[in-house]
Amino acid sequence: MTKKKIITVIILVAVIVAVITGLIIELDYFDVIDLDYKPKYPGVAYEDLGSAKKLEGKTALVTVFASDGYDKWDFTQPEDKRKREELLRYLSVGTDWLIEQGKKYRVELEFVQPFDENDNVLYYEHDFGDIIVNDDYMSRFMNKEADYEWDFIDSYVNNDAIYKELGCQNVVYYFFYDGGTLPNTFIYELNVYNKPFERPYELVVSPYWYSGKNQPISPDMLIHELLHDFGAPDLYAPDNHDFLYHTTSDFVDFCSVFHTTDIMYTTGGNVNRQFYWDRVDAEITDITAYYLGWINHPPLEVDFFRLVRSQHEKH
Ligand SMILES: [Zn+2]
Repeated sequence: MTKKKIITVIILVAVIVAVITGLIIELDYFDVIDLDYKPKYPGVAYEDLGSAKKLEGKTALVTVFASDGYDKWDFTQPEDKRKREELLRYLSVGTDWLIEQGKKYRVELEFVQPFDENDNVLYYEHDFGDIIVNDDYMSRFMNKEADYEWDFIDSYVNNDAIYKELGCQNVVYYFFYDGGTLPNTFIYELNVYNKPFERPYELVVSPYWYSGKNQPISPDMLIHELLHDFGAPDLYAPDNHDFLYHTTSDFVDFCSVFHTTDIMYTTGGNVNRQFYWDRVDAEITDITAYYLGWINHPPLEVDFFRLVRSQHEKH
């Protein structure tokens, strides 16, 4: 290379560097980017995350078929027996799928769960009598309270023994209501990313009949809620209540293009989606894996959309 060419290359590189630097400073000045941006972390200690700290190892799923003032299970009736059999099967379809998804991230998962009503450790029935437990399900969800269910567990279940006998790391209770006579039914859990959860177990409250879709609840929905318990945020709707890492509408728009197959997107995001009851038609992608603590480094969109970083990142 001649001297002249070397000088030309140096000048060219200097110009390119100057242009890029100028552009970055300009973008920062107009708040398009923020050079001083510091990642945000949840203000809660890892020890305060309740039972479901991390989805790994062995997790016990306890099922409680619950009756209340609206909905009574009657297992002398073939129809209710069939619904119970379906719910237990959907749960196992879901956990089989989850075990396979874990393998993609080298996470070993094991679930112990009841396969029928003869499981003395993990299967329960309970009647709350005249109380209409899910009358105001939205307020229960918004306040993250399930007093009736908590009282039941504390009074009737030896939660410590489940941990010890089964040697599991996590215990999650599924309260199954029929839901068929209610005008609105709703599946939910109680996890909040930045509030301590003191109970030594987690909860999912689910109807058999899901009024929002006018069909039985499906395996993917049962697992979607379980993943919330372990920290995964919704990808199909923004976090309007500060439950889920400050996810924004921009982020949701991004997910509607780039995370359409993720289980935290599919159950709410694809309006005309086909539902299945014998399999889960979804996957776990890196963004959900990150919030479950399955990968340590945040995908680029976490800081780009100014989300709060995962509860798991520093542990
Ligand atoms: Zn959700």
